[in-house]
Amino acid sequence: MTKHFCVFGNPIAHSYSPFIHELFANQFGHALSYRRQLATEYNFASTVARLFRQNLTGANVTLPFKQQAFRLANTVTPEARDAGAVNTLVATAAHGLLGANTDGLGLLYDLKRLNVDLSGKRVLLIGAGGAARGVLRNLLDEKPEVIWLYNRSPAKAEALAAGRSRIKAVTHWQPVTGVELVINATSASLNGDLPAVPDSLLASSAVIYDMMYAATATPFIRHVQKIAEPACYDGLGMLVGQAAESYRLWWNCELPQIDPVIQQVRQQLAAQ
Ligand code: NDP
Repeated sequence: MTKHFCVFGNPIAHSYSPFIHELFANQFGHALSYRRQLATEYNFASTVARLFRQNLTGANVTLPFKQQAFRLANTVTPEARDAGAVNTLVATAAHGLLGANTDGLGLLYDLKRLNVDLSGKRVLLIGAGGAARGVLRNLLDEKPEVIWLYNRSPAKAEALAAGRSRIKAVTHWQPVTGVELVINATSASLNGDLPAVPDSLLASSAVIYDMMYAATATPFIRHVQKIAEPACYDGLGMLVGQAAESYRLWWNCELPQIDPVIQQVRQQLAAQ
């Protein structure tokens, strides 16, 4: 029997989610229908309710509705609670509409695929918006030595670090040394900006991960590659990883294979 899904967003026309989930469904031989659903701030809640009443098994939620989805869900996962944001909705018999945030596991799946081990490592996470909030719990689960958290607006980083011994909000750079992994979780690139992190620190890091993805190198990765040659990865693998975790939740199956799907989405991106 075909199961029905959609992704809510605005804009939504360029979302790769239907393509990604169709590729996952092919791996398992699942019958899936997955479409893009444009919504507005005013009709998001009523559209979610109506479509779940009709036939949806689950949905993804992207900008700008992740916080609204969090408020709408009857139950939320610990990751979603930390983030205050939901990117995956699941219709469940036991918990009603379950809200999950799969960004953190999506990032971990990608880092594992890239052989980036977090255990005992010094990590610099740049940004304290929804994406950073969504991945912190999963990053901590991997037992890094420390996560330095830097944000343009320091109060947000301080609030996130409060009460968590292995997260340290950064207001000046002097204590930040020996960073092995830098994760850019800001949207600065969208405006052609760079977060205000010293070049020396970026240059000395072993691995740079930018959550943003693009057909060519992101502005942040282009900048790093001008000053040094660390391994640089963009967030396309995280996008596919978070989708894989949504898929697993909806179908109660093994995690779909991520690698071949990343390659196919990368080809689509390049062709545009
Ligand atoms: P939010 O709007 O919630 O947060 C934006 C963050 O970026 C804030 O920390 C903000 O700082 C910072 N920022 C914005 N502009 C600048 C700038 N010019 N200089 C420095 N810092 C800046 O966005 P999200 O957290 O949801 O998303 C962040 C990024 O992560 C986006 O590029 C998004 O595409 C990407 N992402 C990728 C995913 C994937 O699957 N690959 C999944 C989720 C997100 P301040 O607090 O000071 O405003």
